[in-house]
Amino acid sequence: MIDVLVIGGGLAGWRAAEAAVAAGCSVAMVANGSGNSPDIHALNVPVGPGDSVELFVEDTLKSGGGACDPALVEVLCRESVKLAEEFPFDRNADGSYKMIQPLGCSVPRCVSIDHKIGAWALARIKRALKGKVELVQGRVTALEAGGSQFTATVSDAQERVPPVMARAVVLATGGWCGKYDFSDNPPELRGDGIALAQSLGAAVRDLDAVQYEPTVALAPARLRGIPVITTMLYEGATFRNRSGEEFLPDKHANKDAISQAISAEIEAGRGVPARGAPETCGGMPARGAPETCGEEPARGAPETCGVWYDATGVPREILETRYADTVRRYAACGIDITREPMLVAPAPHTSLGGVAIDARCRVLRADGTPIPGLFAAGEVTGGVHGRNRLGGNAGTEVLVFGKIAGESAAQYANLPQ
Ligand SMILES: Cc1cc2nc3c(=O)[nH]c(=O)nc-3n(C[C@H](O)[C@H](O)[C@H](O)COP(=O)(O)OP(=O)(O)OC[C@H]3O[C@@H](n4cnc5c(N)ncnc54)[C@H](O)[C@@H]3O)c2cc1C
Repeated sequence: MIDVLVIGGGLAGWRAAEAAVAAGCSVAMVANGSGNSPDIHALNVPVGPGDSVELFVEDTLKSGGGACDPALVEVLCRESVKLAEEFPFDRNADGSYKMIQPLGCSVPRCVSIDHKIGAWALARIKRALKGKVELVQGRVTALEAGGSQFTATVSDAQERVPPVMARAVVLATGGWCGKYDFSDNPPELRGDGIALAQSLGAAVRDLDAVQYEPTVALAPARLRGIPVITTMLYEGATFRNRSGEEFLPDKHANKDAISQAISAEIEAGRGVPARGAPETCGGMPARGAPETCGEEPARGAPETCGVWYDATGVPREILETRYADTVRRYAACGIDITREPMLVAPAPHTSLGGVAIDARCRVLRADGTPIPGLFAAGEVTGGVHGRNRLGGNAGTEVLVFGKIAGESAAQYANLPQ
């Protein structure tokens, strides 16, 4: 039997594995994909001018609309500062951090490493743990507890996988947005960890809270489902409807408000049909397919109808440096975003609710008592973001709470049984 089983191979899972190995535990990880973590572009650390842990806490609580767990937010914001000691975030020539200001943050707060902090951190941890974690490819379909141990049933299409036994378990299975037809998540993200935790008596919270990414590519087909970063709004980008009219005057609104504004525009019949765009519709189409726009409910419409995300007002040098990946991605499809708008629509992006945990990542029952040996971190949990997540807070969450979950699980596994 191993000490700690980590279920999920995203950044929360690998951070947990890293901490458990550092504590001297034997660790196994079961995963059926790499999840959303390789796509993390940047994350929040309050080390910029005018920023502080207190302001970070205030922004996070405000964004969450009164539904965050203040104890988890306190840990997130306080512990985030240590990430600046651990990671070589990009800096300017004068030594200051290169930062962008995510929607909902009062000041620039998002740091990164070459715009790819998720992939960078995963690669670093995997390199350091090479040969130290038993890796099992597959999907955990059941988790049972009994006799001071957990037994995980694993299924894999390719081969028969024996059950995995462990003293402690960290659930790091990410969210459930992969269940939606039009989403920027991979399909294996189906909320399995929530079901596994519930089967052991865990409480869950805010399961109706899903954050929509306002600007997910609807066309061309090759880019469908890939998000386009919203921070371009601060640099001169805007939204336009099918008539080319600008809408959304408040660029400083949070993602939720922006998604709702786009959905309202589509519902009102002013959306741009995905069919034929942009190749046949040109820049701002006068003609369209009204039958696909304006009739569906706001949350259903984006599959067929979107709006223009127009970055032509962003200075070219900013687009080509700060958003070089987006420029390249569209250019490969024959679209020059310095001259043409992108067709986007809101799509389910992050599930905000999930398993109830305390500040030590112990999974809680409805009466607030912890389930012995069961821990959780990352998007599988609820309470950190409330009803709306600040852009950049998920990356911070997985690094901070993944580490705590691994430490707590190791501590539990090392107790005399
Ligand atoms: C396109 C995109 C870009 C993003 N960019 C940012 C950003 O720049 N900044 C930011 O803060 N946030 C960003 N986010 C959000 C962030 O990526 C996620 O919230 C975060 O990566 C979640 O990490 P995780 O480790 O909890 O889960 P994930 O990274 O999603 O990993 C979940 C893991 O669990 C595995 N799994 C699931 N079910 C099972 C099962 N039953 N058995 C075994 N394994 C299972 C999956 O295969 C996967 O390995 C972005 C999200 C998306 C979709």
